[in-house]
Amino acid sequence: DDNGGWVELREPDLDVEEPSGPQPVVAVVGRPNVGKSTLVNRIIGRRQAVVEDIPGVTRDRVPYDAQWNGRSFTVVDTGGWEPDARDRAAAIAAQAEIAVATADVVLFVVDAMVGSTDVDEAAVKMLRRSAKPVILVANKTDNTAIEMEATSLWSLGLGEPYPVSALHGRGSGELLDAIMDALPEAPKIVENRPRGPRRVALVGRPNVGKSSLLNRFSGEERAVVDSVAGTTVDPVDSLVQIGGETWQLVDTAGLRKRVGKASGTEYYASLRTASAIEAAEVAVVLLDSSEVISEQDQRILSMVVEAGRALVIAFNKWDLVDADRRYYLDKEIDRELRRIPWAIRLNLSAQTGRAVDKLAPALRKALASWETRVPTAQLNQWLTALVQATPHPVRGGRAPKILFATQAGVAPPRFVLFTTAPLDAGYQRFVERKLREEFGFEGSPVEISVRPRK
Ligand code: GDP
Ligand code: GDP
Repeated sequence: DDNGGWVELREPDLDVEEPSGPQPVVAVVGRPNVGKSTLVNRIIGRRQAVVEDIPGVTRDRVPYDAQWNGRSFTVVDTGGWEPDARDRAAAIAAQAEIAVATADVVLFVVDAMVGSTDVDEAAVKMLRRSAKPVILVANKTDNTAIEMEATSLWSLGLGEPYPVSALHGRGSGELLDAIMDALPEAPKIVENRPRGPRRVALVGRPNVGKSSLLNRFSGEERAVVDSVAGTTVDPVDSLVQIGGETWQLVDTAGLRKRVGKASGTEYYASLRTASAIEAAEVAVVLLDSSEVISEQDQRILSMVVEAGRALVIAFNKWDLVDADRRYYLDKEIDRELRRIPWAIRLNLSAQTGRAVDKLAPALRKALASWETRVPTAQLNQWLTALVQATPHPVRGGRAPKILFATQAGVAPPRFVLFTTAPLDAGYQRFVERKLREEFGFEGSPVEISVRPRK
């Protein structure tokens, strides 16, 4: 039939998040044996885990991280066959369709030694229906004689064929330049953060002990300021030494001058808290352990989560906690902090100094989680095993499939799941929970967005 194996897809739900700047995706499609895997290896420039060697992982839609001229992108090898396909052309078309749906740019690989075949033409038909850019790769162009032959591939109607020898590397630089030109704006590889001390927000409602904790660290302050002379630090910030390292505590002027208490409507204080969190990389939210976790505490915690900052919760005034209070506090924590089980928690006392030395290691750990990057191959090996063991529940006779995932960014870690249809919220939470079990991220929020193929 005229539809050629095209799969009708449901409209994506409207509440699906748009991923915030994922790496662009380049899909490699073509008949078997035209050299797709060889080309992918050439593009990634090194031997990553050879997928065929990983038990239980098919070669279908396996993504790899790649870089060229300072830009990073994801290459997806689509080298497999749909095992239940009726015929070759339909199988290729279906494969091309998936590639088109998930990719920003498609590399269509043909064998220049063979020339174009019926199967190639069936795939081209499908590719041309999409608005996605397609780059025609005339692979196995090992020498100039074949290069002459390769020009006949203009007849496929995909524009200029790029003569490449994936095996020997011939023409691969020109191909990569063409890919870069076709890609949408991509994030640069180096996510440079400004040099200098890590920025920390010390926040919490009035009287939880922020000034007291700050004073604990402020003994050596003058020396610290001198040692980082030349660094531009906002005059409202403090540079303090915690655990042998200099940290920049954001907007602590109020804590020093005690204006927070004198002036300060709650509205003003909350604006100031929000802007400190925004300016920081990691927030320490102080709670008063001797009092019930309040709505105001919750609001401050939400600000940190919504801003996507790393989070350490310091239960201050621990010296006031007796067995009785401990019992109720544990219950409050279960109830009130259930949505942020990943936050790092410390029980300390600014007054006695108890566990104050644990703060620096907690900050470092939260920041390390916040900046974690999971290699794409590792991410997808894990994901493949996960969805095999626990597939998405069937809804109305069909279950959305996760095709693959990439990490779109760090600080905080952001992941994009490429799927056949929107996922149930419950299943998405399950994936996040398992992701955390596998890769940690203690002390950091993690964002997962879903990109159903269109
Ligand atoms: P795929 O099925 O499309 O992924 O193809 P493979 O990458 O597995 O390659 C199929 C065969 O073609 C292998 O024997 C490769 O060594 C060979 N091959 C791949 N690229 C080239 C090339 O540029 N020149 C030549 N002469 N052979 C190649
Ligand atoms: P801020 O408003 O958050 O800056 O809180 P302050 O640092 O001014 O502390 C408010 C009150 O709590 C003061 O009376 C402090 O002495 C007291 N306080 C601070 N930390 C502790 C602590 O760890 N234990 C006890 N028992 N009291 C504390």
